[in-house]
Amino acid sequence: MFDLHVHTTASDGTRTPAEVVAEAAALGLSGLAVTDHDTVEGVAPALSAGKAWGVEVVPGIEINTEDRGIEIHILGYFIDFGSEILLERLAFLRRARHARMARMVELLRRLGVRVSLEDVLAVAGNGVPARPHLARALVAGGWVASEEEAFERYLNQGRPAYVPRAKYAPAEAVALIKEAGGAPVLAHAGLVPGGAALGPLLRAGLCGIEAYHPGHDPGATEFCRRLAERHGLVATGGSDYHGPGHRIYRRLGAAVVGREVVERLRSLARR
Ligand SMILES: [Zn+2]
Ligand SMILES: [Zn+2]
Repeated sequence: MFDLHVHTTASDGTRTPAEVVAEAAALGLSGLAVTDHDTVEGVAPALSAGKAWGVEVVPGIEINTEDRGIEIHILGYFIDFGSEILLERLAFLRRARHARMARMVELLRRLGVRVSLEDVLAVAGNGVPARPHLARALVAGGWVASEEEAFERYLNQGRPAYVPRAKYAPAEAVALIKEAGGAPVLAHAGLVPGGAALGPLLRAGLCGIEAYHPGHDPGATEFCRRLAERHGLVATGGSDYHGPGHRIYRRLGAAVVGREVVERLRSLARR
């Protein structure tokens, strides 16, 4: 079986790409897709670990986008992770993420929470700084008792240290993944409030809908599966694993799909 949605320390996961691959091998998974937020830096190390462990690694990404205030994530499979246009666009998002984190730290300091950007970057390691890193830095500094509290008091949308992020529109991310030779898939489609507007995504070349995801209840899974069927799209799945210690998704292999799904994505990529 294949887990097609896995994060590593290249974004906000707590396991390195090599550790994730070793875990997949221990679980007996045939393969996994590394789908870090807005970066492909985990792909190359995962591929080499995959060779060592006999685990098939699918190069992937998860691009965070926004449509009228609603967050929409677009997964990309079998992307050319050396693509110049892809790397250039991702560098833009990374710079925006750093600027956003600096602003959030500044807002916290005005509230008397003396966390520093260096603290957050130390937690993020090689990863691009994101809110979970800031939450961990707040726990480590004794400012809050838990990461949940950090989000509830300061970091969630509507809370005093929240700063919106520069994002692409969902259809732009679909087009970018196509341009990088990949197969774009709408992530955890059952968790999009009100459902995503599919029309523009289909026109931009959407290939699949993530139906199997630990955040989906059976009704959401069935809804996504039917949606995929109706539009001739691949129904994909994965655990959204972020490593132990993550607030929600900490079980690798919590959602898996068969090899036929991987092969359909492979054939749809590069078209
Ligand atoms: Zn996501
Ligand atoms: Zn994810």
